[in-house]
Amino acid sequence: PPQYVKNIEEIVFRNVCFQYPGTDHKVLKNVSFTMKMGKNYALVGVNGAGKTTIIKLLTGLYSDYSGEILINGRELRSYPPSEQKGIFSVVYQDFCRHALTFKENCEISDPCHKLSEEKMVKLAEQFDLVRRIESFPEGYDTLLGKTREGGVDLSGGQWQKLAMVRALLRPAKVRILDEPTASLDPKMESEIYRLFQEMTKDTLTILVSHRLGFARLADEIIVFENGKIREQGGFQRLMQKKGLFYAMYEEQRSWYQ
Ligand code: ADP
Repeated sequence: PPQYVKNIEEIVFRNVCFQYPGTDHKVLKNVSFTMKMGKNYALVGVNGAGKTTIIKLLTGLYSDYSGEILINGRELRSYPPSEQKGIFSVVYQDFCRHALTFKENCEISDPCHKLSEEKMVKLAEQFDLVRRIESFPEGYDTLLGKTREGGVDLSGGQWQKLAMVRALLRPAKVRILDEPTASLDPKMESEIYRLFQEMTKDTLTILVSHRLGFARLADEIIVFENGKIREQGGFQRLMQKKGLFYAMYEEQRSWYQ
């Protein structure tokens, strides 16, 4: 079971290089940055730039990188796996749709502790899911999924919101969204990110996307290109700089109009 690390102050990448096992080119090249508790970070860049690889290293999927990843000044690889797991709460692009009830879907966020139903309902309210859930024959205890005759199901967007609710119910201090909204339209995606950020004030949040509408909300944007950090800063600053971020943003502008 995950052991929750109570206080995360900062995450530091120091000269991190990485290549996937069995390949011979580096997909991260000397990456250095610092993230602080209480702030929101956006990792952006075109597909293949290295964003998800950063998340994979952070969450312990690969440990044969060079350089250092420090959590509160201590190398990530020196934390026991149970503690490493307890630091992060991640919603991936291919988030799970469990053929369970809404409540059970929430319970699996943290199997070791009893679910706070009050918290679950409050989050469902904030994500505007309550009316839908209450229309089900047994509300939060209705089995979801289209497989059975007469079965009820959530829409794609509602499943994505459920994935966020599940992530928010985990007591982890670092929350990561890795393009969980990729199949939504860009406006809906921005709206979901906004909701998520409103609810994660006392955590460190890392948002990953190749779409940039949400990056306005981030305290700091880290722009990756070809395995390196190309630009870094707040939205206004990067827009004024008229560099890569600006060009990408302008290119996508029509998605949000
Ligand atoms: P992004 O999240 O920015 O789209 P990724 O971090 O997923 O980019 O990918 C960075 C690079 O690593 C890409 O060139 C990708 O093809 C490569 N890559 C990703 N996963 C693997 C893997 N499991 N094995 C080998 N190469 C991979």
